Amino acid sequence: MIRFENVTKRYRGTARPALLDVDFEVLRGEFVFLVGASGSGKSSCLRLVLREDVPSDGRVVVLGRDLRTLSNRKVPYFRRHVGAVFQDFRLLPTKTVFQNVAFTLQVTGSSRAFIQQSVPEVLALVGLAGKEKRFPHELSGGEQQRVAIARALVNRPQVLLADEPTGNLDPATSVEIMQLLSRINAGGTTVVMATHEAGFVDQMQRRVIELRDGEIIRDERHGGYGDTSALPSLAPEPERGAAAVAALTAVLEVHRELVETGTVDESVVDAADAAAAAAAAPVDEDLVVAAEAAIEESAEALADAEPTYEPEPEPAIAKAPVPRTNPIPVVEAVELDVADLGLADRLGLRGDEDEVGPTS
Ligand code: ADP
Ligand code: MG
Repeated sequence: MIRFENVTKRYRGTARPALLDVDFEVLRGEFVFLVGASGSGKSSCLRLVLREDVPSDGRVVVLGRDLRTLSNRKVPYFRRHVGAVFQDFRLLPTKTVFQNVAFTLQVTGSSRAFIQQSVPEVLALVGLAGKEKRFPHELSGGEQQRVAIARALVNRPQVLLADEPTGNLDPATSVEIMQLLSRINAGGTTVVMATHEAGFVDQMQRRVIELRDGEIIRDERHGGYGDTSALPSLAPEPERGAAAVAALTAVLEVHRELVETGTVDESVVDAADAAAAAAAAPVDEDLVVAAEAAIEESAEALADAEPTYEPEPEPAIAKAPVPRTNPIPVVEAVELDVADLGLADRLGLRGDEDEVGPTS
C-alpha cells in the first residue's frame, strides 16, 4: 500500500536531513501510528506519501506507483486515492459544510447528481447529518474535523493520512475523532496517523512507527507510545482518566463490529459491555481498573480470533475503483448501509484537470 525504500529527505538550506534512510511498508487495511517528537520527520513522511514533496534519495511507492515517476499532470488523479486531514482542518471559511465537501468533487468534474447524492451520504457517515448548511465558524472544532474527514473520504480513498488530527481538540472530542478513524479503518481504509497523543497510541494497540531525528528507531505491532515520562501533562487527572476510558470504549466498538461480522467470540461482546458501562459512569478508579481488565481480555480474544491476512497485490491505479465489499461502519444511530451506496461506481474519473484535492 505504502512503501518507503531507504528514503532520505534534505530540505534546501538545512544541514541535517529531515529523514534519513527511512524504510518501512504499510499493508492494506493497517492502522499505523507515526510517533516522535516535534521535528522528528512525521509530517515530512506524510507529505512524501501525498507527493507534496519528493525524496532526495530513495523511493516512495504508494498504491503500486513509484511517486518519482508520477508526472505532475497525474498527481491530482493520484491524490484522489489518498485522503488527508490535518491539525488545522483546512476548511474553506466562506463555504458551507456541504460546499466544503462538494468542492473536491466539483473541481474533479463529478456530476451534479453524483454530488447531491454522495455529499449527504458521507456527511451522515461522519455524524454530521443536518449540519450541511452551517459554515465552519458555526461548528465546534470536532465538527470541523469531521467535515475535513468527510471531504477526505468523499472520493472513497484507499488510504487516509491524518497529521495530528486531534492536535487542536480537547480530550473528549479527540476520542470521538479517534473513534471515527477506527471505524473508517474497520471499513477497510488504510489509516496512517501522525500524533503526539500518547494515550491513544498506548490504548489502541496498533502498529507504531517511531521516528527520532528523521530515523526510524522503532516499528512495532501492537505498540505503545514508548517512554512518555517526558511528555507534559495537559489535563487534570480525572479528565484524562475519563478520556482514556472513553478511548478504550471506542476501540471496543470496533471490536464489536468484528463480532457482528462473525470473526470474534461472543465473550468479547460481554467484555465490551462491561467496559462501556464503566466508561459511561462517573470516573471511579475501581471501574477504570475493571474496564481496563475487560478490555485487555477482549483484546486478547480479538488477537486470537483475528484472521491473519496476506497483502493483496497492489491495484493498478489507472483502473476504475472497485466497489467496496467491506462497508465503513456508520457512526452513532445513523442506519445507512454504505456498501449499498455504490460511491465508487459513481466517481467522476476525469483525470487531467487541476484540482485543489483533499489536501487543500
Ligand atoms: P514533525 O512533523 O515530526 O514535527 P517535520 O517533518 O515537520 O517533523 O520536520 C522534520 C524536520 O525537517 C525539522 O527539522 C523541520 O525543521 C524540517 N523541515 C520541515 N519542513 C521543512 C521545509 N519546508 N524546509 C526546511 N526544513 C523543513
Ligand atoms: Mg508535523
